[in-house]
Order: sequence, then C-alpha cells, then structure tokens
Amino acid sequence: MRVNIDEIKDSGLERAWEIPTARLDEALRGDRAGYLAVRPARVEARLERLGKRVRLQAVTSIELTSPCGRCLLPARTTVPVDFQLSLVPVEEAAQSEGGSREDGEEHSEGSFTPHQVDEETYKGKVIDLDPLVEEQVLLALPAYPVCQEGCKGLCPVCGQNQNEKACGCDRHVPDPRWAGLEKFRQS
Ligand SMILES: [Zn+2]
Ligand SMILES: [Zn+2]
Repeated sequence: MRVNIDEIKDSGLERAWEIPTARLDEALRGDRAGYLAVRPARVEARLERLGKRVRLQAVTSIELTSPCGRCLLPARTTVPVDFQLSLVPVEEAAQSEGGSREDGEEHSEGSFTPHQVDEETYKGKVIDLDPLVEEQVLLALPAYPVCQEGCKGLCPVCGQNQNEKACGCDRHVPDPRWAGLEKFRQS
C-alpha cells in the first residue's frame, strides 16, 4: 500500500488492505523459526500529518505456521501486531542527526512526541507502508513457537513424540550425545 502524503488531509487518512501470503513469506525468511503465513494479513492503518511528519498507526494480525520448537510438528501461531511510527522526511532526519535541530521547532510541530515513538524516514512524497508493517511483524514474532503450551517434545533418546505416547526410555542423560557412552557403561 502506497500513500502519497498529499492524500493525508487534516482529518487524517484511513487505509485498509491485505498483504498477500507470498509477500509475508518473503519477509518471514528473515526469521529463523521457519514461519510461513497461513493467509493474507489484513492491515488497518491510520495516517496523520503535521507538516512533513506523518504519524502512522496500524493494526494487523498474522496467522502463521512453523515447526514446533519442541516436537517439530506444525504449530499454529497468531501474532497480533499493533504499532505507531513517526515518519520523517530523510532530509529532516539528516539535519537532526547532525545536531542542528532548531530550538523550539519541536514544540511548534504540535502534539507529536518523536522521542517516545519510533521514527522511520521516507523519501519524496510517497510512503510504502508494506515494508514498515513487515518490519513490525518481524519484531513481534515469538522466538520459540510451540504447538501447544505444554508440548512434551521429542524423546532425546529415541525421538518418540511424547505427546503421542510415552516411550519409557531412561532419560537420566538427556543429551543424546551421551547415549552411546551410557550403553557402553551398562554392558
Ligand atoms: Zn510441539
Ligand atoms: Zn524414547
């Protein structure tokens, strides 16, 4: 979804759109948990403009599947994403980085509180919202997805999925690298 900043009137601008599954998958490759999108994500966004600064508020919910971090079976995860960003023209951002911010300018800009809200930059007049949303999705992903809260995982000795049945292995030594040694000791 691209928005031309001139489209943002005093009353703000609301936009709703879908990010296709393939595009989400592309973005999700940046995460090592192996997430894939189950369906397109519907995003609802609101933009407000003060001078050249644009405030973006957006909400979405991403449905994902990935191998469970414990038993490797497919796990479904729903990730709610709800964020606010302050979008600043590149020229302005470069200025303030150089420390030449004029006194009082911040106050005259109105009710924005740029130091409390994450800042991103944009170039020209058109803002592409999708990469901004995708970045926030990546930040919101759980690092360790599981198929269910109490997933018992795989037996480290025989690999049996312990949610399905108990294998009865002696797991005094949970590290499979020691399993060979253990046998040696018993013989
Ligand atoms: Zn599991
Ligand atoms: Zn076992």
